Amino acid sequence: MKRSYVVSKFGGTSMGGRQEMERSAVISMERNSNMVVVSALSGTTDKLIQVAKLASRGLTEDCEKMVFSIKERHQALMNELPKNTRAIKILSNYFDELDLLVQNISLLKELTPKAHDHILSLGERMSSLLFSEVLRNKLQNQTVELLDARSMIKTDSNFGKATPLIEDIAKACKALNDKTVYVTQGFIGSDHDGNTTILGRGGSDYSAALFAEGMNATTLEIWTDVAGIATTDPRLCTSAKIIHEISYAEAGEMAQYGAKILHPATIAPAVRKSIPVFVGSTFEKDLPGTWIRETVENRPAVRAITKRAHQALLTICNPNMLNAYGFMGEIFGMFGKHRISVDCITTSEISIAVTVDNATLDNQKFITDLKGIGQVNVETGYSLISLIGNDLFSRSSLAKSIFNSVDEASIRMMSLGASSYNFNFLVKEEESTTCIQKLHKALIEGHK
Ligand code: ASP
Ligand code: MG
Repeated sequence: MKRSYVVSKFGGTSMGGRQEMERSAVISMERNSNMVVVSALSGTTDKLIQVAKLASRGLTEDCEKMVFSIKERHQALMNELPKNTRAIKILSNYFDELDLLVQNISLLKELTPKAHDHILSLGERMSSLLFSEVLRNKLQNQTVELLDARSMIKTDSNFGKATPLIEDIAKACKALNDKTVYVTQGFIGSDHDGNTTILGRGGSDYSAALFAEGMNATTLEIWTDVAGIATTDPRLCTSAKIIHEISYAEAGEMAQYGAKILHPATIAPAVRKSIPVFVGSTFEKDLPGTWIRETVENRPAVRAITKRAHQALLTICNPNMLNAYGFMGEIFGMFGKHRISVDCITTSEISIAVTVDNATLDNQKFITDLKGIGQVNVETGYSLISLIGNDLFSRSSLAKSIFNSVDEASIRMMSLGASSYNFNFLVKEEESTTCIQKLHKALIEGHK
């Protein structure tokens, strides 16, 4: 008989305090989770980033205050739980580790990428310790084991956003059994030398997916504070609705193009092993949520609309490239060298326009390198709106409805055709919300 293996991930708000942890524990029991992957307590990662920054500037007093508040919150939670001397000791060791890291960073006034990842890992290590206690107290008949994700999620040494090593993870997962309930950390891993690494902000979803893949899980569940994936951001458009079923391809595009609910890399491991993914809210656990699967019954032309704010448009132009070759290769090579992903592009014979996150512009070396290839023009203040759906370029009259809906906005760039699942266009930030509302009304509310 094929064993069923459920991996459930709980985000920061589902770890917010004692009550939230209790609620998450009940859900993991109802779902028969074999592995629970948790984020840091809400807001903790941001605070740890601040601590690291303050320490590196030698601002010890502010830093100490923040360290104190982090410790206090975790300690208060531990104090509320039935006493377990071993867990209390582990927590106090984590506090010592935090102090030591802060001391070292402030002494050297230098924050290395290695130290940065190490200090951030404490958020998830502390929350998972507390959650394992909550779950152990409820789940009397089963063994609950706190697992160090760093011994499982093997990565390269690209600190800040490490790349997982899939085969090594699968190998490590072989040691797990289906009798034990594991509680482990999202977000963190370790490289070949045993240094702590992180998978990038919001990376806990990705960790859970990697565990699900490594264990050949039957289901991956992502528990968060919204009741599933919505047709668009409900804060931008009040008529947004939860999508009950969506394909991997569409959900992947949504995450990539700005839907905040899933870390963009989450879908890939699920796709590799055809694992269905459920997204639901810990606060409304009985609602149907969203199922993400390989194939779905309903395939509307436009399923959802996403927005990626803070976009810049880079135009690289080199007139010498008229009738020449290799221009695109050189540009893409430069993006690759700096590990910057190319999002949306349009090209002409001698120029190429690429959208990037505004933050990319801070990478001076990248911009200088691009200038070595051609003339670079930078425009900012844009949002990228993406229509996500099915067979987008073979639907008659779709273009007409789209352009009718955005008739008053000026579209700076658009891209359609590389994937049948999305249609992207770039508009001025201040025009983006109205565009989304109009598009939602015309393309989603009007069509079931
Ligand atoms: N705690 C990490 C973050 O805030 C990872 C996560 O929550 O997914 O980015
Ligand atoms: Mg998250």
